[in-house]
Amino acid sequence: MPPPALQDALLHWFAQNGRLLPWRRTYLPYHIWISEIMLQQTRMDRVVVYFNRWLDRFPDLASLAEAREQEVLRLWEGLGYYSRARNLLKTADLLCRNHDSALPEDHAALLKLPGIGRYTAGAIMSLAFNRSHPIVDANVERLFSRLFNLAAPVKEKLTHGFIWRKAAELIPEGKARFFNQALMELGALVCLPRSPRCDDCPLRDHCEAFAQGVVGERPVAGKPREIIPITMVSGVLQHQGKIYIQKRLPDDVWPNLWEFPGGRLEEDETPEQALVREYREETDFAIHGLEKITTIRHSFTRYRVTLHCYLCRLRGSGTEPALHAAQEYRWAGPEELENFAFPAPHRRLIKRLAGKL
Ligand code: SF4
Repeated sequence: MPPPALQDALLHWFAQNGRLLPWRRTYLPYHIWISEIMLQQTRMDRVVVYFNRWLDRFPDLASLAEAREQEVLRLWEGLGYYSRARNLLKTADLLCRNHDSALPEDHAALLKLPGIGRYTAGAIMSLAFNRSHPIVDANVERLFSRLFNLAAPVKEKLTHGFIWRKAAELIPEGKARFFNQALMELGALVCLPRSPRCDDCPLRDHCEAFAQGVVGERPVAGKPREIIPITMVSGVLQHQGKIYIQKRLPDDVWPNLWEFPGGRLEEDETPEQALVREYREETDFAIHGLEKITTIRHSFTRYRVTLHCYLCRLRGSGTEPALHAAQEYRWAGPEELENFAFPAPHRRLIKRLAGKL
């Protein structure tokens, strides 16, 4: 049995120190679901801004289910990992057609919905419905690696299993909502990655790493992820006051988002040569008059992208592209670019076009 003092100390601390976040005002399943999906891979302060904007536009499941994908993607722009936004839309549609327009209070049923895995299902069950299901995020992993003085990386199978088991065992009867949040909040605010605030920690008397004097050595580092640098090029093609944009294919990276054509540099190619080639391959357009605008650096998953960006012009008068790498195209006025959903680096490129068109 876990020592009750640990649970009481943690719940008491959370009651005094938990941040007042928008979804903590209601604990509505829809609010918990949206916030948890947004929180995957995104910082809390950023999520609060996106969450409030999202609720202004889509206050409930029904309004989301009726939305157009492009509008959802546009609202999601900047959060990255766009499959999350598409899955929200798919799930809202499914729930409105088959589940009485509500998230089910059933762990197994939640797991069958698009984009809902073990973590999110646990979060909805415990935070929205106050049911005893564990959740483990990076904060809980770090906290437990210290609390239980775990001598192996937290992502290793056995350690990972231990952490999930402990997270389940520790939940006090009828208090899953606050206990799970308290664990994550303590990791986020006190048991910090680099300088844990042990002097302010309500669990210090329970912390094995603290007792052993090895806090600085926990969590044990796992294998570092390989980082892959990529050099790419992108071109803003202007013609008679309009700009060429195209919608990416549904099974490509950044599916269904709009873009300026471009791609990766091949061996021994300059960015200018690559852009001319990419335009020819993707659209059959011949371009010329390349003018460098900027270089954008962007990270996603393990890739570090350097994106060289150019203005360019159309050679010849034919404005109808052959769509070899896209599903739709537009010749859009500069002010219309606001209405389309672009990947983050292309949105940054649009911002840097100000005064250049
Ligand atoms: S005592 Fe320090 S290391 Fe242990 S749980 Fe608290 S903050 Fe983390």
